[in-house]
Amino acid sequence: HAKSKGRNNYQFYTEQLNEKIVRRMDLESELRVALDKQELFLNYQPKVNLQTGEIVGAEALLRWDSGKYGMISPAEFVPIAEETGIIWQITEFVLEQACQQAAEWIEAHPSFQSMAVNISGVQFNHSDLVETIGAVLTSSKIPPENLELEITEGAIIDNAEEAINAMQRLKTLGVKLSLDDFGTGYSSLSYLKRFPVDSLKIDRSFVAEIVSDKTDLKIAGNIVKLAHDLSLNVVAEGVETDEQLKLIKALGCDELQGYIFSRPLSKSDFSAMFTQNKSLYS
Ligand code: C2E
Ligand code: MG
Ligand code: MG
Ligand code: MG
Repeated sequence: HAKSKGRNNYQFYTEQLNEKIVRRMDLESELRVALDKQELFLNYQPKVNLQTGEIVGAEALLRWDSGKYGMISPAEFVPIAEETGIIWQITEFVLEQACQQAAEWIEAHPSFQSMAVNISGVQFNHSDLVETIGAVLTSSKIPPENLELEITEGAIIDNAEEAINAMQRLKTLGVKLSLDDFGTGYSSLSYLKRFPVDSLKIDRSFVAEIVSDKTDLKIAGNIVKLAHDLSLNVVAEGVETDEQLKLIKALGCDELQGYIFSRPLSKSDFSAMFTQNKSLYS
């Protein structure tokens, strides 16, 4: 009996593994045509100034509504796009859409100053990226300083010297750079002063813990202080509760992004917030 049970488990395991592999391969071929089929689009999540409560920018977040599988998380498809190289076409699409949208919001709303786009770790140290961004800035006509590129802390850890060079090349375009998911990796604070970045985004997991853990609260406070000493802007990611909001405000963070203000929205829902004059403190 034990033997047959073992075999069944094994079969079950293999079937599951096969399903995973088949899904992975199928997603890859679906992703290759997703752009042409117009299944990819952007949502925008507001960034809010903690002093004034105003919407000062947005982060563009990619969405895939696959005809075959429905909504698929970027956490699942971005890695596939990176491994296959499809990420290059996708990022070009994201940059074009985001900059076009930014042009409209910058013109219509004086508080809106920054559109952030996530740049994959496999792309950011590549010279083709500099060319692509230059071309998109030209065609969208937005001032370069209104575009912000988010690079995860994790992507720059492996080779800090190369990362510094890549960031400097991007900075020559006049765009802003920010370190995403900050606090989770080990990009040591000693490197921070050499990175030509404009802001830090304190990672969501970290923000969640500042309420339950006094030590984390102190560490977060010191990150904010250090960032300000280096003249960097600090954004708290994933703020969900009033308690978290109170704490990050007390720490002196400059901006927040999170469900407490808004989830990522379609462009029309985002525009509607301006019409409603939505503020963090209203
Ligand atoms: P990220 O750049 O750190 O983006 C923030 C993620 O946190 C988003 O997830 C956002 O919806 C989520 N978030 C924001 N506020 C809250 C909150 O209060 N609570 C919770 N639980 N979550 C919150 P999303 O949209 O699923 O994106 C996941 C990741 O996928 C992004 O993390 C980014 O690394 C990647 N990604 C998304 N769009 C793109 C893209 O256009 N290009 C690339 N290369 N990566 C992208
Ligand atoms: Mg991001
Ligand atoms: Mg992040
Ligand atoms: Mg993330």
